[in-house]
Amino acid sequence: MLKKYTLLGIITLLFVSVIAACSSASKNETVEKKTQRPIMVQGPMPIEAENFAKKLENVKEEKSGDFVFYIGTLDNYPVIVAKTGKGMENTAAATAVAMERYNPIAIINQGTSGGHDPSLNVFDIVLGERTVNLGSLKTADKAVNEGIDPTIWKPMDLMASEGSAGEDPNAEKPRFYEGDKDLLAAAHAVKDTYTKGKVVDGTIGSADVWNNEVDRIKWFHTKYGTSVEEMEGASAAQIAKAYDVPFLGIRVLSNNKVNGGKYNPNTAAANQEYVYDVVKKYISSMPSK
Ligand code: SAH
Repeated sequence: MLKKYTLLGIITLLFVSVIAACSSASKNETVEKKTQRPIMVQGPMPIEAENFAKKLENVKEEKSGDFVFYIGTLDNYPVIVAKTGKGMENTAAATAVAMERYNPIAIINQGTSGGHDPSLNVFDIVLGERTVNLGSLKTADKAVNEGIDPTIWKPMDLMASEGSAGEDPNAEKPRFYEGDKDLLAAAHAVKDTYTKGKVVDGTIGSADVWNNEVDRIKWFHTKYGTSVEEMEGASAAQIAKAYDVPFLGIRVLSNNKVNGGKYNPNTAAANQEYVYDVVKKYISSMPSK
């Protein structure tokens, strides 16, 4: 009698613990899914974001101000495409909102750009080994009627100190934001999938300015080593640095004033095709996958 009850007890215990193990496994899985931090891909204009957004699966759209976030998955990993709007302010704000709302694991800022390097043609792609703000400048000291002289303006590092950037001589240098090495490795690994032009490492310069003066473009190319200019990358890079989130700029040339390359809006879609392959590669090389 006693034996029978003991046996029954053991079987019940086993059954209960199997059930418990199963339910805790599925609980862990949901927890893991929920805590997977998304990869964020940013594009300023509709033509620079919507193609990528269409490639996501299980998409749901969220808005914050003018910013649109397409929240979906790629190869079962969470990816968010952000349509930020043009320029430094929109991009910085959209990046900060995204940091607080979505806690991204990495950010790729991508889109079109204008060439500063005469060896780069429309449809070539620049991977931002470095990204720099071309608009933070300190002018020379000149009194009334001494005129203006942009070629002797000095770069100003907005992150050099908490003191006055106008007074601090240590701030008289450009701030280069480094492209994340794992994102760069993923971009290098899929270089050959891009057939519309070459893919090179370089320096991306950003400001709320469209430069059409070839001598001014040459000045930036010499002084900062810029490969291309656009209006967003450095502001996203600055916020990414503030939050310590890996960042990479990926820019296709849509125009190149230096060698006569005419603006071609189709470059925006081509860049997104390539960035899609970069994100796929990055996901497949993540340790948790
Ligand atoms: N063709 C439009 C340009 C769009 S505004 C017009 O003339 O109104 C500029 C957008 O294109 C920004 O998002 C910027 O990042 C990108 N861009 C492309 N080429 C650029 C260039 N040469 N200088 C500055 N931004 C450029």
